[in-house]
Amino acid sequence: MKRLQPVLTFPDFQYSPDNVEGPGCNVDPSEVTLPGCSCPSHSCCPESCSCLQTRGQAYNSIGILLDLSRTDSGYCSPVFECNALCTCSDTCCNRVVQRGLRLRLEVYSTSNRGWGVRTLEAITRGTFVCEYAGEVIGFEEARRRQLTQRSEENNYIIAVREHAGTGSIIETFVDPAVVGNVGRFLNHSCLPNLFMLPVRVHSVVPRLALFAGRDINAQEELTFDYSGGYSNQPPVELLSTQSDAAIQASRTVGLQRKACHCGANKCTQFLPLDLSILN
Ligand SMILES: [Zn+2]
Ligand SMILES: [Zn+2]
Ligand SMILES: [Zn+2]
Repeated sequence: MKRLQPVLTFPDFQYSPDNVEGPGCNVDPSEVTLPGCSCPSHSCCPESCSCLQTRGQAYNSIGILLDLSRTDSGYCSPVFECNALCTCSDTCCNRVVQRGLRLRLEVYSTSNRGWGVRTLEAITRGTFVCEYAGEVIGFEEARRRQLTQRSEENNYIIAVREHAGTGSIIETFVDPAVVGNVGRFLNHSCLPNLFMLPVRVHSVVPRLALFAGRDINAQEELTFDYSGGYSNQPPVELLSTQSDAAIQASRTVGLQRKACHCGANKCTQFLPLDLSILN
């Protein structure tokens, strides 16, 4: 007898391209809290722009992410874009993630992993693909939601922890279950083609931006490592240009082990589980 594939029901959620303030979030992510530059030109250049001078240049002239890991220290730099207070134009090369999704992506029903996202066009390595947007919530709320999540729910609360050298830790929790964008449909893979980087635009609350880690062909499924790694490398480490060393790691706060069907050679067989964040 022919086995029928179960019909997936489209989840009920509110679409938002940007992060929204949720319970326990003490900063409104839509509030402009970072200073801007006063460049007269329409695109900022490192010789004169205060944003690029104090925070470093993350993108090349066509908005492709530079290799952030190639610094003397071996750390990569955090990403700050020009913001609402900057005088440069909307087409400034230091405005990439804030311009939003530019690629044709498709949410589709995979054979064994529920919903997934594929690209309808080829993507060059280093290109911004999409954000993982949702409600920005506090730690207690993240823990409460994770504990009450039903096992069939596949949404992951992503926690980004940034460690400043002074010992302070900035934690950002993004939950796309109720309010989210296309990022909520991305599957985990142990051999992903996207990687996540926190990018700050107008607010100190980072946006969780996903970039192509390699050249990607049209029709390929887009995936990222829910534990924040890339190509079995440990999560990206960031060096703050403003204070001291910073290490960034994005982690899920998942409690239930879920089977991984990514099919990669080095598949760990289970979706990542990291409890350290709950200690
Ligand atoms: Zn600019
Ligand atoms: Zn500037
Ligand atoms: Zn600027």
